[in-house]
Amino acid sequence: MKSNVPVAKNRLGLIFFPAYDWAITPDHPEREERLLYTHDQIIEEGLLDVEGIYEFKPELATEKDVARVHICVPNVKTLATTSHLISAGGAITAAKKYIEGVVDKAFALVRPPGHHAFRVVHGNRGFCNINNEAIMVEWLRTNYNPELKVVFIDTDAHHADGTQDIYYHDPNVLHISIHQDGRTLYPGTGFTWELGGPGAMAKTLNIPLPPGTTDEGYLYVIDELILPILEEFKPDLIINSAGQDNHYSDPLTNMGITAQGYAELNHRLNPHLAVLQGGYSIEDALPYTNLGILLAMAGLDYSNLKEPDYHPSRSRQDSRTMDQIKQIVEQVRYYWENRDRLISDEFETIGNGYYQREREIFYDTDYISEKQKETVKVCNTPDCHGHIFIKSIGTHLGIYKKRVSIAAVIIPRLVCKECQQIAREKYEEYCQKGQYHYVYLQNQVNEEYLRWVRE
Ligand SMILES: [Zn+2]
Ligand SMILES: [Zn+2]
Ligand SMILES: [Zn+2]
Repeated sequence: MKSNVPVAKNRLGLIFFPAYDWAITPDHPEREERLLYTHDQIIEEGLLDVEGIYEFKPELATEKDVARVHICVPNVKTLATTSHLISAGGAITAAKKYIEGVVDKAFALVRPPGHHAFRVVHGNRGFCNINNEAIMVEWLRTNYNPELKVVFIDTDAHHADGTQDIYYHDPNVLHISIHQDGRTLYPGTGFTWELGGPGAMAKTLNIPLPPGTTDEGYLYVIDELILPILEEFKPDLIINSAGQDNHYSDPLTNMGITAQGYAELNHRLNPHLAVLQGGYSIEDALPYTNLGILLAMAGLDYSNLKEPDYHPSRSRQDSRTMDQIKQIVEQVRYYWENRDRLISDEFETIGNGYYQREREIFYDTDYISEKQKETVKVCNTPDCHGHIFIKSIGTHLGIYKKRVSIAAVIIPRLVCKECQQIAREKYEEYCQKGQYHYVYLQNQVNEEYLRWVRE
């Protein structure tokens, strides 16, 4: 590549953070070597010598950046190590360089990953403690535009259950997760009928694909479903949560994408920002898939990019799997096209009332079982996103059992005076009752993040 000195069509920012000092255990699949080979490959290919590709150092996310998104139990310090704060900070740096117009696109190649971290965090689940891409979006909304309309397209092989949870009631964020069917892979969720809360119906879209889906199947989903949806939603910002564990060589999953497929997928989605997620085929896939995404984002030619064992037949889709994919696309399209009716039905039944959902959330890495009840105000005032009350009990299932109970009050950025007032009173009430170990207030309107601790 150096010989003809290519120029990137899109100015591309790269933020690289391999977190050399953080791993769950030394031989865990989510470890530092994940990015070492990729970094070597990028240098070898001379990508950093290309005119228009720049590398930026990640900044450190602050505690406030985290508290804007998460209720960390017991607190941010305990759950977010310096590595986590740099990983999230790397995503913020990407957003900053993009919004300041320094680059046209940016890719945060950071770990630890984030898309399995829910709003409430008792510990690590699915290798994630804090949600890098949500922290990035909330940073942008706080510093630039509170009404920013965002699309997430999560192409990691696992369902992006954490990001889905954080934005489940937010009508300004369209969260699309494409993943291997939850009946065959962790975390076991992400079905088409998970559509978002009453005020945000069909702003959560799940596309569970059968094991063995290849480039052809993925690109069908992009062309037939996702691109038309993006055209209608008209987002200000497109974010690709770029997991690479659906590569055919990945040891944890059963999908069949090639590096060419990744590049082509990214080219068609045309995201402004990409944030790395999973990908555990460290030597055989990651250097090629990451390179493919980088070339596509920079608008450079990727047609010669091939794994050593690549064969064109890998990209093709068998007809049985293709039929299943087409059925799923039809279902999701139905929900999307009927979204206005779905929302008005919800408002008819619970308008100006409360909606509740109860869940059990398991933390596979830290072995914690959480019981959570979410109570969401569905407000009739136009553009008011209501408020959310959360009660959660985390049981740490170690040698000695430890139970931690919390209550949290969430006031979203776009909220009417009355909904804000009621939520503030609820926070005071929880503190006075003294029933919980911790009570939290997350008030995004005036950036007020409080925690009350029972003595
Ligand atoms: Zn996904
Ligand atoms: Zn994954
Ligand atoms: Zn309201």
